[in-house]
Amino acid sequence: MSRIVQQSKELGLLAYPPPYQCWFALSSDPDFTALDNWQEVHTFIWEELALPFADSFFITNKNLQATEQVSLGDRPECIGAHMHDTLHTWGDFIFSGNYRFTRSDALAGIDLLLKYSIVPKVWTDHSNFIGNLLHRPHVTSTPTIKDTAGYVYENDLYTLDLVKSAGIRYIWNGNLVRAPIGQDRTLSRHRWYQESGLRFSKTTRTAISVLDNLTAGLQQFRNPTVFTYSRAANRQYYRHKFPDGTEFYCFPRFGSWQLGDIDGISKILNPETITKLIQSEGTMILYTHLGKRHGELNENRQHIPQATRDTFVQLANEHNAGRIKLSSTSKLLDYLVLRDNATVVNDEIHFRPDDIRFPSLDINDLKDHQFGLATRNRNIRVLCNDIEVSAYTLEETTSASEFKLSFG
Ligand SMILES: [Zn+2]
Repeated sequence: MSRIVQQSKELGLLAYPPPYQCWFALSSDPDFTALDNWQEVHTFIWEELALPFADSFFITNKNLQATEQVSLGDRPECIGAHMHDTLHTWGDFIFSGNYRFTRSDALAGIDLLLKYSIVPKVWTDHSNFIGNLLHRPHVTSTPTIKDTAGYVYENDLYTLDLVKSAGIRYIWNGNLVRAPIGQDRTLSRHRWYQESGLRFSKTTRTAISVLDNLTAGLQQFRNPTVFTYSRAANRQYYRHKFPDGTEFYCFPRFGSWQLGDIDGISKILNPETITKLIQSEGTMILYTHLGKRHGELNENRQHIPQATRDTFVQLANEHNAGRIKLSSTSKLLDYLVLRDNATVVNDEIHFRPDDIRFPSLDINDLKDHQFGLATRNRNIRVLCNDIEVSAYTLEETTSASEFKLSFG
């Protein structure tokens, strides 16, 4: 069971649906995924282990140095073979010779998404792509750009309106988190410095926490790489307004640049990290590249090393044992948005829309999800958009006072 995130006298809302203590999603970028690597990954993760992860994809591939990469344009059958919820930008336009990406490529991308009825909800920036939104962005996200002399130019790299119309609601913020393990938890200042990975002794970290508190009003004199605490620092997602006024949710990914490949998975997600994730009662969206091997280990070999296979087997076992919930990135983020917009009042739980992902919430939006409730009284009321819902089930769990709420 997970912790309670909201409580009235009669009713508590659990962080995650029972019996799970924490939630893990994989966020893999498709760089370097040649067809034979794709096949091995598909067979192992989505067929043998049948894990409920979603994948990401390039719409098109213009990279002259990675012509074998799987993309929607070249290999639509691959994108249809398992769940894909993440668009890795409008395509791979890195090392594309004289070909320069413009908005017209994004419009062609939209046509391709429509042709295959794909509605991606998540966007991850790619390398140094000139159309990136937050990770090493090239130009500001506005339809026009004014130079210092006052001349206005049409921004032919502007696509944020198309990103939204494609269905995207969640954008990777361009950052990787290495610590704490377990996002979606508000940490006290003391706990933040104990868990945030500073290379100091426990005593020094306690001292930094005390100093941080004492010098809170002296921001201009403080080293921002040491004093990193804020109550919001460990969020799994947050609202972000772009320069054109559009709002999306942004999210960080967990991982490291050096270990973001098929060889690094067993190191970044070692047994100790998995145990800490369960204990944290938090979330993790892991950054990786399932189709990419570490540069120095690129010889002729089985693509997925045994240690990485063992990591995925361990994740599957923890999922089956009811400790770690596994899902796509979009399902995890959707759940958090629904949970955080729900309110618990007396013996009632109210599900309400937000204005980014669920602007008109109805019961169908809740059907994909389950929620955990702590109550001694089974006669609760469930409301969606202020309308009472009768088509729900409250399922008992191993704890007498905790229930799993599901719909339809
Ligand atoms: Zn990439």
